Amino acid sequence: MVQTVAKEQFFYAFSKDNKAALRVPSGSQIVIETYDCFQNQIQSNEAAFNSIDWNQINPATGSIYVEDALPGDVLKVKIDNIELGDQGVMATGPGLGVMGHRIDEFQVKIIPIEEGKAVFNEKLHLPLNPMIGVIGVAPESEPVSCGTPGAHGGNMDTTTITTGATLYFPIFQEGALFGLGDLHAAMGDGEIGVSGIEIPGKVTVTLEVLKGKSIRFPFIENEEGTAVIVSKETLDEAAKEAVEIFIDTLLPHTDMNLGELTMLMSAVGQVQVSQIVDPLLTARFFVPKNVLEAYQVKLF
Ligand code: CA
Ligand code: ZN
Repeated sequence: MVQTVAKEQFFYAFSKDNKAALRVPSGSQIVIETYDCFQNQIQSNEAAFNSIDWNQINPATGSIYVEDALPGDVLKVKIDNIELGDQGVMATGPGLGVMGHRIDEFQVKIIPIEEGKAVFNEKLHLPLNPMIGVIGVAPESEPVSCGTPGAHGGNMDTTTITTGATLYFPIFQEGALFGLGDLHAAMGDGEIGVSGIEIPGKVTVTLEVLKGKSIRFPFIENEEGTAVIVSKETLDEAAKEAVEIFIDTLLPHTDMNLGELTMLMSAVGQVQVSQIVDPLLTARFFVPKNVLEAYQVKLF
């Protein structure tokens, strides 16, 4: 039977001190229930800034202790399914997101999900892209708030973290101490207003420990190809580090020198933006599958 972790078992920071809500052997499939990023506190368009407890933000469900996971290993996380609740919410306001310096009042908007679409208004029923905003493992040292992304994953707000994708995280702590939350019914690259269509839900994942692999930042694989996801103080740093990490990872798998591989990556690789509104900014560098297959590169 597939085990479920209830949304009431959550944490606000990824930490080596988080208690295990569940212990599972490597290879287990589990279902993880989640609150939305406001811990379901916003239920109407009239919700005021002061009616929200801002200490109760970005809960991640977990943690999940994966047996045999040791520092230096890799945690493979296959996203098998994302089930969304029936109502999403967006918010923005002064000091929030890219436009926060020009918006005078905190504003929320309830967005019902009807017939597989997000009802933004009467004119626009938006296609869904169910995705996971916060997903990761316990970091190497100090606890990291679930609002901040990093090498351990966390608040990466990356549109490609969706059903069918497989993520790879560096493991820093025994058991990995995995968790996730902050689902979005849809979100644009950048998440410019500081929220996606925030929504509670249920995620089914398969967790597996990989030995003998070591990575510095999370990787993501899907039908189209593979990307590394890097978060830094600036988007420039994040993008450049992502490029370097991917090229360094690829180099030993090819017969090319650094210059030739750089030319290839310049021809086919894509610098992509995940989000530009969190305490660290997140970019990814994507390489299409056919290029990796031509060199029979299997990173994981
Ligand atoms: Ca987020
Ligand atoms: Zn979110």
